[in-house]
Amino acid sequence: MDYDHFFADALGELKAEGRYRIFADLERQSGAFPMATRHWQNQTETVTVWCSNDYLGMGQHPAVLKAMTEALQHCGAGAGGTRNIAGTNHYHVLLERELADLHKKEGALLFTSGYVANMTSLSTLGAGLPDCVIFSDSLNHSSMIEGIRHSRAEKCIFRHNDPEHLDSLLSRYDDSRAKMVVFESVYSMDGDVAPIGEICDVAQAHGAMTFLDEVHAVGMYGPRGAGVAERDGVMDQVDIVQGTLAKAFGVMGGYIAASAKLVDFVRSNGSGFIFTTSLPPALAAGALASIQVVREDNDLRARHQERAATLKRRLSEAGLPVMPSVCHIVPVLVGDPRLSKQASDELLERHSIYVQPINYPTVARGTERLRITPTPLHDDDAMDKLVAGLSDVWSRLDLRKAA
Ligand SMILES: *Cc1c(COP(=O)(O)O)cnc(C)c1O
Repeated sequence: MDYDHFFADALGELKAEGRYRIFADLERQSGAFPMATRHWQNQTETVTVWCSNDYLGMGQHPAVLKAMTEALQHCGAGAGGTRNIAGTNHYHVLLERELADLHKKEGALLFTSGYVANMTSLSTLGAGLPDCVIFSDSLNHSSMIEGIRHSRAEKCIFRHNDPEHLDSLLSRYDDSRAKMVVFESVYSMDGDVAPIGEICDVAQAHGAMTFLDEVHAVGMYGPRGAGVAERDGVMDQVDIVQGTLAKAFGVMGGYIAASAKLVDFVRSNGSGFIFTTSLPPALAAGALASIQVVREDNDLRARHQERAATLKRRLSEAGLPVMPSVCHIVPVLVGDPRLSKQASDELLERHSIYVQPINYPTVARGTERLRITPTPLHDDDAMDKLVAGLSDVWSRLDLRKAA
């Protein structure tokens, strides 16, 4: 086989479709959030980043940097092993305690990322529970789909955020059979939110466990930042909550929180937990400091929500097609892969504003968009420039305005 030819052809197809991925080469400027230095054709320029998942700017918070610096000096760079063989650092233990407390669960378990947390937990539970059926929301994240697939459990897909459809699918199975309902709280491409309480009620009525991905909600919703389940007062109805330390908490790593026995089962059987080196102690220390700051800071959450609401209002007033979002994520519809890429390029080149285009397969074809993530650190001046920049690009490319 001509391997080079095969790869070149496959990449050529992506390019022809306008969904070949080009990464912005950025140096984030600590202390000047949301600014970054962009490297491009041997030149540099300062850009304003409007699409980071460091939703609260915690990746540069002084308390986080201090904790990481101290832990780095104190414990060194790497963890030195897997959790089982010399790699359980005291910071991991403290962090798991903090996460269990945050979600009011008996236990928590750390993974090297949110992706690995989903993949490993779902594959381990789905394969371990005898004859398990997994009910999965149709818009679940790739990491959950991969975990479910890997478990080889029987799978049913329910219509997005539709408890009635879930109920009808669950009704086809015997109540005594092992079942797990797997869904997210905030869906990060559309910015819609699951009816967690209703979904949990339906699951409970059929004897199913619930697994909730709160990756885009931890730190940002609920009076202690434990997520949408906390905001909605339904935390105790969720059996397994999964989260990341890499988005609102600004560092890296993933976790689940659940009953002590369930956590122990995944700890004892999950290959993506067992056979890999644990997180560097400095990351665990930074994440711990971040959670402790964010838990106490309701003003930060309020400022975040205010920025998102203000941006949605201002974009609508400018006639730009903001998609209906009920959270901090602000998607703006382009509806074509090449044009979304071009809009992003022009924003960068003409206005020094960076918003990555989102194309298939991350979103459905025909719904290509710019996904904007305002933070408490994007001030009015930055917002003025964003609205002006988008308006300019929309008229230059003659893009669809709001209906
Ligand atoms: C980003 C994301 C993950 C993965 O989290 P990482 O810590 O970045 O690996 C899992 N689930 C959802 C819904 C996500 O958007």
